[in-house]
Amino acid sequence: MLTRLSSPTHEELYRVEDTESGLRGFIALHSTVRGPAAGGLRMRSYDSDDAAREDVLNLSRGMSYKTAAADLPLGGGKAVIIGDPGRDKTPALLHAMGRAVAALQGRYWTAEDMGMTPADMAQIARETRFVAGREDGPHASGDPSPVTAQGVFDAMRAGAAQVFGNPDMAGRRVAVQGLGHVGWHLCRLLHEAGATLTVADMNRTRTAAAARDFGATPAEPATIHAAPACIFAPCAIGGILNADTIPQIGARMVAGAANNQLASPGDADHLHARGILYLPDYVANGGGIINVAAEILQIEDRTPWVAGKLAALEATMTRILARAATEGTSPAQLADRIVEERLLAKAG
Ligand code: NAD
Repeated sequence: MLTRLSSPTHEELYRVEDTESGLRGFIALHSTVRGPAAGGLRMRSYDSDDAAREDVLNLSRGMSYKTAAADLPLGGGKAVIIGDPGRDKTPALLHAMGRAVAALQGRYWTAEDMGMTPADMAQIARETRFVAGREDGPHASGDPSPVTAQGVFDAMRAGAAQVFGNPDMAGRRVAVQGLGHVGWHLCRLLHEAGATLTVADMNRTRTAAAARDFGATPAEPATIHAAPACIFAPCAIGGILNADTIPQIGARMVAGAANNQLASPGDADHLHARGILYLPDYVANGGGIINVAAEILQIEDRTPWVAGKLAALEATMTRILARAATEGTSPAQLADRIVEERLLAKAG
């Protein structure tokens, strides 16, 4: 079922195959030097096996950066299933994936990601105990999005202190793209803190609800990045910071929950050159993995533990921003450097 493949960059890489259920996919463990590799399971139709392999390698590496930035005793991993979740997902396929995760004996912890639901993860958990983000059970952590939103909000305050000389959100206009799980909680926190909101979602009922509940001004999903605002908060899709959008951004700061906001690493420099402070996404959105970590690590008193880790994450963001300003570099570049130091320090 698991065939080990060689990888020059990752500790372990496996092809996962089960002919009976039709399961095909990959599991990658980028790093376990800080602890077991953690990262979600994604199911989608890939153009090719190579595309799926590339995705699992990139995503697992990203998880190592995210867990190290949040200073968690965890590493980075990821799993992907090749297939259309609406058509190809069966209990037998999920059970087979569960057995593949079980075979790694706790070196990899999986969780829900794109194309998976809590009910799917419950099926996987029938075959392995190395499943996090569960809805019930002794240390279940449930929906991580309120904690993710809190982390983004804290990061915004750290960024605002640098850009505007004051962390206070009262009176600031924030343009929020995406009013899903995280975006909605973030809007609520901002509204309660006295910020004014411009919002956009592909789903117009979400936009209308934010206008009703938070007095938000609706905008178009395709142009919200250009809306006049103090802060632009991408909370929907990746790649939103690119050669087309960066020249149009109307805010002085970008801070949001979306993963992989930069279309390419060089886009951090483009933002920096425009004088826009970009808060590295994997630091700003680390609240979600902190919430999941409490389950993996079986923390008994999770509320104070999560709060402590969130405070440490905000302190890390503040340090990154201060050092980046002193060195005249982009916070994204500096965050990568700090995290790589943390990974090396542990390895050595
Ligand atoms: P979600 O699926 O609940 O919400 C996404 C929302 O964005 C949906 O309402 C969707 O209609 C909207 N959307 C999609 N494309 C859009 C576009 N082009 N313009 C405007 N709106 C658009 O997802 P979520 O859980 O809120 O996560 C949001 C982002 O944050 C994702 O990139 C996710 O990977 C990342 N993230 C989430 C968590 C978490 O705890 N949920 C943690 C870390 C990172």
